[in-house]
Amino acid sequence: MITAADEALLRRAIDLASRSVAQGDAPYGSLLAGPDGAVLAEDHNTVRRDNDITAHPELKLARWAARELDPRTAGGTTMYTSCQPCGMCTGAIVRSGIGRVVYALSTEQLIELNPQSGQWPTVAQDGPALFDEARGPIDTYYRPS
Ligand SMILES: [Zn+2]
Repeated sequence: MITAADEALLRRAIDLASRSVAQGDAPYGSLLAGPDGAVLAEDHNTVRRDNDITAHPELKLARWAARELDPRTAGGTTMYTSCQPCGMCTGAIVRSGIGRVVYALSTEQLIELNPQSGQWPTVAQDGPALFDEARGPIDTYYRPS
């Protein structure tokens, strides 16, 4: 359920997206808030500026949370973001331990507004292979001592 307090923080994320556009960057903004709604960190997309395909605000905030917050604190945070996180960012958010995501536009709505946003190619993947060789570093790392 999205509350009025959530909507206020979503509006701030949308404002970050607008400011990103004004600075020549892609139209995406996000922030991370604590349980009391205090903003802990915020960012916008800098893929063009940084020439970095991973410079999505959600990914940058997930990395910040994993680095700067203990797991219990991270679990109490909410990410507010102008668009639903992409697959890359969703994976990072899950690994960061952030407790909740609230987004404005869904991926489907974004694609309706900009069909190019949905035109990602698929990548061929072949495997599994070489199980006995590939398990070596896994067994070494995870073997209980
Ligand atoms: Zn993303």
